[in-house]
Amino acid sequence: MSIELAGKSVVVVGTKRSGKAAIDLLLKHGARVCALDAQPAKDDEGALGVPILLQTPENLETAAPDLIVLSPAVPYDLPMFVAARTRGTPVIGEVELASFFLKGPVIGITGSNGKTTTTALTGHLLKACGIEAQVGGNIGTAVTAMVESSSETQWNVLELSSFQLETIHHFRARISACLNVTPDHLDRHHTFEQYAAAKARLFETQQPGDFAVLNWNDATCRDFAKRTAAAVHWFSSAGDAPGGMRLHGDELFWDGRPFLRRSQLPLRGLHNVENVMAAAAIARLAGAALESIAEGVLTFPGVEHRIEFVRSLHGVSYFNDSKATNVDATLKAIEAFDGGLWLILGGKDKGSDYGPLRQPLAKRAKGALLIGAPPPYAYAAAPLIREALDGVLPLFDCGTLARAVCYAREHASAGDTVLFAPACASFDQFENFEERGRAFKQLVAELF
Ligand code: ADP
Repeated sequence: MSIELAGKSVVVVGTKRSGKAAIDLLLKHGARVCALDAQPAKDDEGALGVPILLQTPENLETAAPDLIVLSPAVPYDLPMFVAARTRGTPVIGEVELASFFLKGPVIGITGSNGKTTTTALTGHLLKACGIEAQVGGNIGTAVTAMVESSSETQWNVLELSSFQLETIHHFRARISACLNVTPDHLDRHHTFEQYAAAKARLFETQQPGDFAVLNWNDATCRDFAKRTAAAVHWFSSAGDAPGGMRLHGDELFWDGRPFLRRSQLPLRGLHNVENVMAAAAIARLAGAALESIAEGVLTFPGVEHRIEFVRSLHGVSYFNDSKATNVDATLKAIEAFDGGLWLILGGKDKGSDYGPLRQPLAKRAKGALLIGAPPPYAYAAAPLIREALDGVLPLFDCGTLARAVCYAREHASAGDTVLFAPACASFDQFENFEERGRAFKQLVAELF
């Protein structure tokens, strides 16, 4: 199947990374392109080579497009797009657009948590095993921007979010994978069922001869198995999957064959064992040898801001998990350590329940250092965390990250771990979790 773009009028909605890459691809194929954005940056018009107008129903209608391409951040069910579809105008996502032009087989990786780690690890494993691969999607390079460097012999390893998957029809993954599905992005998808249905598209568009790698211990993943024509390979960290990838004691097995020891893995936590199992299964199905996969896992450097080791000073280890922007992720990080923790928590509250942190912190932590913009800032998490953790462990109000790091340096003793896994959004004091993580690493680097 192909898509005819020459001379067609196409509206691209959203002009950030994915929108820009889509515009480039469309122009290259002779389309007449106009962009819409909720906050149009007129300065970008020159660089993009297309007009950028305010995203309104009137501007969309005036452009009279033959095709509408949405960036992942733009809701598919906005009334203006529903109306366009009713008028018979196709509305697709940037990934779907790319699928008509991308050469080479595709690996699509989704899940509520663990996508980036598993995608990066899969790319690393394929390359380590001598298999050509390029990595992109939600992890960084837009899929339309990967078209030019794609080739028939090279795998495209793609991290895919529910937003990128909800509009796919033509897009097809030779190998798909889902790590887990837990409630997320319900502001966009409205119900858990609709969120899961968006992810299910990845499996529904597969064909006989394709492969799906799924988590045996996740009910929604089990449902995906029923919706795909691909051959399903399971993974399970509880050791009970029928075939595929299993963890038994300290050993990882592929179809009954041990190939790797958990204790050797360069990543901490059971959740990362699952990510390793999924990536290893994908690499195996893409043709890599088990022995090379095992060697490749050992040289994976990990992904920045995900339980990232920063340095050791006077016997105290410092870890940056700035990506822990919710309570669930912080729990995973705490569980990855045996004890002696000094946890730095706080930031912008998202209406979270911090109660689930009580038990694991009582068991594993010596103290919690609270940071974040103070009240009257309306979303200050620190007072809520203090209330939830009252009486569980010593709590220290530090305010800034700099003060928390200094406090940890003064009070932690040899053998302890300082863990920055804040359980909150970063926007009260930082641009994003990356800037927050870099600030932490800089502060730790300056300690003596
Ligand atoms: P994503 O790209 O899906 O957000 P990441 O690899 O960036 O996933 O990990 C984000 C956070 O999710 C990590 O800090 C970790 O706490 C948690 N996480 C990672 N992998 C898993 C997993 N397989 N299951 C549950 N939680 C996970």
